Amino acid sequence: MKTAIVWFRRDLRVDDNPALAAALENFERIVPLYIQSPHANDDWEEGSASRWWLHHSLEELDKSLRNLGSRLIIQRGESLGSLMEILKITGAEAVFWNRRYTPGEVRLDTAIKADLKTRGVAVHTYNSSLLKEPWEHLKPNGGPYRVFTPFWKAYLASGFSVSPEDPPCRMAPPPESLVGDRLGSLNLLPKIPWDQGLREAWVPGEVSAQRQLRRFLEGPASAYAEARDYPGTRGTSRLSPHLHFGEISPRRIAAEIMRYCRPGDHGVDVFIKEVGWREFAYHLLYHFPHTDQNPLDERFLGFPWPTYDGEAYASWTRGLTGYPIVDAGMRELWHTGWMHNRVRMIAASFLTKNLLIHWSKGAEWFWDTLVDADLAANTLGWQWTAGCGADAAPYFRIFNPVLQGERFDASGEYVRRWIPELKQVPNAWIHHPFDLTAQELEAYGVVLGHDYPAPIVELKGTRERALAAFAAIKSGPDSN
Ligand code: FAD
Repeated sequence: MKTAIVWFRRDLRVDDNPALAAALENFERIVPLYIQSPHANDDWEEGSASRWWLHHSLEELDKSLRNLGSRLIIQRGESLGSLMEILKITGAEAVFWNRRYTPGEVRLDTAIKADLKTRGVAVHTYNSSLLKEPWEHLKPNGGPYRVFTPFWKAYLASGFSVSPEDPPCRMAPPPESLVGDRLGSLNLLPKIPWDQGLREAWVPGEVSAQRQLRRFLEGPASAYAEARDYPGTRGTSRLSPHLHFGEISPRRIAAEIMRYCRPGDHGVDVFIKEVGWREFAYHLLYHFPHTDQNPLDERFLGFPWPTYDGEAYASWTRGLTGYPIVDAGMRELWHTGWMHNRVRMIAASFLTKNLLIHWSKGAEWFWDTLVDADLAANTLGWQWTAGCGADAAPYFRIFNPVLQGERFDASGEYVRRWIPELKQVPNAWIHHPFDLTAQELEAYGVVLGHDYPAPIVELKGTRERALAAFAAIKSGPDSN
């Protein structure tokens, strides 16, 4: 039987999966394969929350494949060695996969492709996770974009496909003798069961991703333009982990938007623009592969970061800074593996500007705790907030967590959800309880420093310290 391998990676779905569709068109039997390699790439290894998601996502992919008559084969081991082994056992003639874009993934995939070809194995690769690939969209002078607005304007003007491929109806199963490793043997789930919050907040997998998209388009999408900034409401799609693991494609999202919404619907325009930020993030990391470690704006190589303050960092990670909106965000992250975008910006600004802790320390924490941890989007988000990335926030934009809280969580709903110890504090003080007297606080059931911390730093002085540090480097030429 003419057999091919479809190597699943960041495309854990059967819907709109071009590699799977192409393989099915040309081969009678498909071996759906996932390889858990100790060196899947030379990028950052999956964090704890991502590993939790991956376990469940693989389980769901197996279910999708079984519904079609097939099943997922899981292999532990080096990618090339595992591919060679399965090729040998099954007599497969070709390998199909969807392309990946982070620097380590590109290096690895390029080497594997070359190796397989020299061994006479045909390799066919496709785009499944971006509206356009990073090399397809360049400035008129042939260089990569560094500023979002012209990037996105040209993206929209040149157009992209909104014709996803439907999932297959049936698939012939892989040979019965092919067993593979058990999902549990990948040890993706935590040994100490800290994942209850994740289980309450999420259902990984492509069925859930499509349900989540429909729920969003039928509900919050039309008000997205305004509601997306308010962390107390469910105003955003929460599709980020599904997109990261490829449980849904941006093409499917764009097609569903066209089906559900009227053209010119402002909420939807803003939403698709946010998906555009994801495309921009991949564009940047692809063209500037050093930026997961180093600033895009090279002036920042000389930024006078003070000696690392481990105690302040620990308070930030635990949601114990004394600034309620920052702490609520950090606790939401710890509990659910996700944080609202507005609060990500506030928490990241607090770390990099008020605490003057290097953005990479924040990126590392997010990497381990986010279920949507994504090297491209995380790098963009941290460098943007720190002021050292493409199209970055200007250096003088230092989010004031009290004013941000009052503006975007005026009713204190978000803060009270994550910091129950402040539940009784009235709205007027919920974002700065430290301005109340000890007696007033006591009336609301709070002893500062006991029930909830006093601020670990004050805002005015730390803001001035940050501005002085920025002044030290801003005289250099801007590389943006
Ligand atoms: P929606 O508002 O519904 O947006 C739809 C989709 O667009 C998202 O699912 C996401 O894929 C994409 N998107 C939206 N905003 C951005 C953005 N600013 N940059 C890139 N893509 C975007 N996003 C990640 O997916 N992974 C990360 O690791 C990540 N780290 C971040 C770190 C910092 C410091 C900051 C400020 C932002 C980070 N973001 C990251 C971007 C953003 O916060 C999340 O994509 C968003 O909160 C996800 O929620 P949602 O799916 O409801 O988004």
